[in-house]
Amino acid sequence: MKKKDSLCQCGSKLLSAKCCLPFIREEANPPTPEALMRSRYTAYALQEEAYLLNTWAENNRPTPPLLEQQEETLKWINLKIIRSSATTDAGIVEFVATYKVNGKAYKLHEVSNFQKVNGQWYYTDGTVAE
Ligand SMILES: [Zn+2]
Repeated sequence: MKKKDSLCQCGSKLLSAKCCLPFIREEANPPTPEALMRSRYTAYALQEEAYLLNTWAENNRPTPPLLEQQEETLKWINLKIIRSSATTDAGIVEFVATYKVNGKAYKLHEVSNFQKVNGQWYYTDGTVAE
């Protein structure tokens, strides 16, 4: 395997095995909202629907299927974290995610909210920023 192939999709420049993969494989819990945000981006890129659902706050969790609605040509390109902050049980992450559909690039700029329940961070909801 080429080294580039094993770098994490979230853009951390870390190997995926030392970044998002242990969370997606549920071998570890993301310690911060930003770590959860990164792992959810990577899960979107890898089409790991179960992880996306499991990390969604239960009262806000969408009904599967999540990813079948994605066009097959949608490809996640890049994640940029703009800011992140957290208290003991709530957090915010602002990010820009770049993706391509049919070769054309789009940006998703979102402010996401996270909450901690029983020691674990969950994605609650997000507001798209202009
Ligand atoms: Zn990562």
